[in-house]
Amino acid sequence: MKMLTNRLFFAAASAALLLASCGPQAAPDIAAAPGACDGVAAQPLRDVCILAADDMEGRMVGSEGGARARAYVLSRFEDMGLPPVQGGYEQAFDVARPLDLRERNSLSMDLTGFNLIGLIEGEDPSITMVVTAHYDHIGMDEEGGIFNGADDNASGVGGLLAIAEHFLDNRPRHNVVIAALDAEEGGLDGARHFVANRPEGIGEIAFNLNLDMLGYSDDGRLFAVGSYHTPELVGLIEAAAAQSPITLLAGYDRPTENRRDDWTLLSDHAAFHLQGIPFLYLGVEDHPYYHTVNDTFDIIMPDFYLGAVETAIDVAVRADAMLPELAAIRQARAQSAP
Ligand SMILES: [Zn+2]
Repeated sequence: MKMLTNRLFFAAASAALLLASCGPQAAPDIAAAPGACDGVAAQPLRDVCILAADDMEGRMVGSEGGARARAYVLSRFEDMGLPPVQGGYEQAFDVARPLDLRERNSLSMDLTGFNLIGLIEGEDPSITMVVTAHYDHIGMDEEGGIFNGADDNASGVGGLLAIAEHFLDNRPRHNVVIAALDAEEGGLDGARHFVANRPEGIGEIAFNLNLDMLGYSDDGRLFAVGSYHTPELVGLIEAAAAQSPITLLAGYDRPTENRRDDWTLLSDHAAFHLQGIPFLYLGVEDHPYYHTVNDTFDIIMPDFYLGAVETAIDVAVRADAMLPELAAIRQARAQSAP
């Protein structure tokens, strides 16, 4: 998330990628999950542990580590019985990444990204909520240091999988698309490709719930971003906050001088917002581990994180109930758009 100024690591990671970027990577058969995570009981924490393990090599788009992460997410989709869209989960797309961002005219590498998409059909399949979380991260540095990306964004993927499991057990009123997105780092490419190439048969997209960094907050606060643009969501946030085991606050969506205080365009929800689709983004404030090699599983706060996942599920259930109203807002925006 918040990829405003991350030039350095890209150069390094690009080097790692160069080795791996020989066209689309076949999804490797992952062996059993690394032993290190066997003792982690709560499923969302276990997902974070596995996706943030060293063998995922920081999950850079187009890299072997990225392919391993993809294989893990797909194995979770299959194990929980999440139906694919259009006969398959994978939505491949081209993405270019500069070899070295320090060089304005740097050569770029053509890579293939993969969005992973499932559909839970609701009682009324005409309108749809799309729940997103990016599974990619920024790879490795020049010394081979791994950007494990436990909070950014293995934590969001754990939340996404928990929401999928909830709606598979409790049929939603409307369609729910579950989308693990690729290539968020460095351009929101997966989200932009998804919005421009919506799978057929998913219904009209009325709302996006995006999860990015749910796992670490030294003051116990999770933010819900988006009600400034869709004031009708204020009630939903207040009701979810009253129910939440952690502190849920609306904010970080008003236009401000300091770009870092407006998160409207800083993660995958931006691609939906720019199409006039109402969104809520759930995430924590920046912390010292953000985009460092120290964003590892052991910084994740289990109680806070599981509270954030529980809150994300509750927000998704409330949004499902509110979807016809959100669809009307979306349509009104489409009609009034220049
Ligand atoms: Zn992120």
